[in-house]
Amino acid sequence: MLITTYGIVIRERNVGENDKFIDVLTSDLGVIELSAKGVKKITSKSFSSAQLFAYSKFCLNKKNDRYYINSAEPVRIFYDIRLDVENFALASYFCDIILHTITSEQSAKSVTRLFLNSMHFLEKGNHTRELLKSVFELRLMSDIGMMPDIVACHSCLCYQTPLMYFKIRKGTIFCENCYNRSGDAVAINTSVLHAIRYICLTDIEKLWSFKLSEEAQQTLSYITENYLLSHTERHFKTLDFYKELENTFNEQ
Ligand SMILES: [Zn+2]
Repeated sequence: MLITTYGIVIRERNVGENDKFIDVLTSDLGVIELSAKGVKKITSKSFSSAQLFAYSKFCLNKKNDRYYINSAEPVRIFYDIRLDVENFALASYFCDIILHTITSEQSAKSVTRLFLNSMHFLEKGNHTRELLKSVFELRLMSDIGMMPDIVACHSCLCYQTPLMYFKIRKGTIFCENCYNRSGDAVAINTSVLHAIRYICLTDIEKLWSFKLSEEAQQTLSYITENYLLSHTERHFKTLDFYKELENTFNEQ
C-alpha cells in the first residue's frame, strides 16, 4: 500500500552505514517511525528530505505495520535553526515533547501547525525564545486535551481580580478572595492572566501576537514549563540542556 503524507522529521537514529530510522510528525498520522534505507548517502535522492527538521512530502510503503520511504522531496528545511546552538536546543526540546505526547495513527493537525509555526519563528528570530517556548508548552497541552481551567475563579466563578493565583498541579485559578494560600499556586497579575487565556483560546493565526514585560514573561515561563512537566509527568534532558545554555549565555 502506497501512502502520501507531509511531515517534519523530529528524531533520527542511524542504523549501520547508510540507513536510518526517522520519527516524523504528520497531520494525519501523528508521529510515525519511517525506515529510511540508503538515505545517509549524499547521493541519495531522499538525503535532504530525511534529515532532522526537514518538512517533506513522503511517499511511503506500509508493510506489516511498518513504514518505508519509497520517495521523498523536501518542502522546507529549517536548516538555520541548526546553526544557532540555543535555537537548536529549544527545537530539540519541542521535538522531545512531541515524541512523548503524540502517538501514531492519530490526527495531530493542530500540533503540527503549532510546531511548524514555532520552527518558522525560531528560524526567523521575530519572537523571543522565551515567548516561543511558553506558547508551545501551553498551547500543546491545550491541543492534546489538557487545557487548564482558566476561564474563571475555580471557587466563585468571578472572571478576574487584580491578582489571581494559578495552581499548577490542579490547573485551576483562584481569585484574591477565594485563594486560601495552600498548594503550589503562583500569583499572576492581569497581563499574565490574559496571556494564559490568549495562548489557550485564540486562533492559531494570532497566537504569537501579544507582548509582555520581561517580568510578566518570567512568570509566564515558570507557569507554562511547570504546568507541562507536572501534567506530562516527564523529565526532559533536552530542557535541562536548553536551560543550561540560557544560563551560560546570560551570565556572559
Ligand atoms: Zn473567587
